[in-house]
Amino acid sequence: MTTNENIIELKHLTKKFEDGFLAVSDFNLEVKKGEFVTFLGPSGCGKTTTLRMIAGFDLPTEGQILLNGRDITKLPPYQRPINTVFQRYALFPHMNIYENIAFGLRQKKTKEDVIKKKVKKVLDLVDLEGFEGRSVQTLSGGQQQRIAIARALVNEPEILLLDEPLGALDLKMRKEMQLELKQMHDELGITFIYVTHDQEEALTMSDRIVVMSEGRIQQLGTPEDIYNEPKNAFVADFIGESNIFNGIMTGKLRARFCGGEFECVDDIDEGTHITAVVRPEDVEITPPEEGTIRGIVSSVIFKGMHYEITIESGKNEMVVRSVHSARPGDTVGMRVEPDNIHVMIAENHTNYFTAEINSDFRLEYNDKLLDTSLTKIIKGSRRTEDGTLLDGSGDAIDPRKTRILVSIQPQDIIMTDHVEEGLVEGNIRNLIYKGDHYSYVIHTDLEQDFIVDDEYLWNMDDHVGLIMPVEKMTFQLKK
Ligand code: ADP
Ligand code: MG
Repeated sequence: MTTNENIIELKHLTKKFEDGFLAVSDFNLEVKKGEFVTFLGPSGCGKTTTLRMIAGFDLPTEGQILLNGRDITKLPPYQRPINTVFQRYALFPHMNIYENIAFGLRQKKTKEDVIKKKVKKVLDLVDLEGFEGRSVQTLSGGQQQRIAIARALVNEPEILLLDEPLGALDLKMRKEMQLELKQMHDELGITFIYVTHDQEEALTMSDRIVVMSEGRIQQLGTPEDIYNEPKNAFVADFIGESNIFNGIMTGKLRARFCGGEFECVDDIDEGTHITAVVRPEDVEITPPEEGTIRGIVSSVIFKGMHYEITIESGKNEMVVRSVHSARPGDTVGMRVEPDNIHVMIAENHTNYFTAEINSDFRLEYNDKLLDTSLTKIIKGSRRTEDGTLLDGSGDAIDPRKTRILVSIQPQDIIMTDHVEEGLVEGNIRNLIYKGDHYSYVIHTDLEQDFIVDDEYLWNMDDHVGLIMPVEKMTFQLKK
């Protein structure tokens, strides 16, 4: 059903709120007529704000929106051939189903016999034929959401915007509705722009996915592109489950990460800083002496179809998915086929590391406190009187199951020979002169490589402490 014509184009779309917060930044996207495009990203990344600008509920502070080539940036919502379905169905409880669906048409002074036909047609479409006379209260959550969709479709929009429409439904209902929505899209031939924070939902439903973080597009592509060739560590981490390591190319088709040297298929120059991504299902557990690296099994969880096995290798952690179990405490080897190692040139050489939440709900790395507030890091979270932390939906956050991915730029880390002042210490393993500074690889005592820019010349193998100012870090909640 997709054509080659762009139905909608977003050009440098930007939204800065009155309080100065930049919610969406330089967002560029072209959507083809009939396409199913999904905005995917964690809570707070700007999905709803982008959708609201497309619908006309919010005005961008910069940029343009074109509909069929025409600038509609400032057109009021009711003049756009666009309808939105929200997570909260917002049906009128005092009206029956017929009146709920007819509401928009009534306002446009549509004739009653036409309304009747249209309502019947959309009720058929959402599989609720004959529900006209029912009251809203008699419907299940799934049925109510179908009515909300019918109410949007009755206006015959060219574009249907769906903002986490299945978010309030239970898992089984959500799966069913995913299939139905997809079918509806294929039958109707209208363009869907769908918002979700659920990667599986995005992967199963979409023609193309826009992965977002902090108001910016991280990657734009088909579900296969995004799963198989994530463009950066954020996308790799967000889509599916991944082990992500900082590393360096040590020779032709050889990369060092996670405390070992692996053969890979990406031909990248020796000495280049890399991010290596390994999917849990691609790690093979071997006898210790046959592995590329070794580690100690720290936990085994049965997941129905497979075991999820966590292995500590030095201070690196590898998550493995296997049909065979393992015993906590056992030493094992690990091997990965070269073409299952996805090597990316480290983007801006951002350093990533994983911090833990301790039992006092403070953030910790290398047994040292990171002086920051978790309620700021975890969107919508708050602290109760007894000190525990609740997430945005009011559920208690389990410190043992929650990790925070921290990133920091090489120029923001300070090297010191007073090693105890550093957050972590390590040895200089590699240095490259970059014109106005040196770029160092520090292999830490936690067996992780950090990239640090410094204007001064240090020596290979110098033992240094790495000072990392908390205000230079960015944080990302990991499931
Ligand atoms: P998402 O839908 O991806 O969860 P939103 O688009 O709703 O994210 O919000 C993006 C960010 O913009 C959030 O950090 C949110 O707190 C902020 N934000 C949303 N609306 C406003 C507003 N009216 N004023 C200031 N900040 C806002
Ligand atoms: Mg939202």
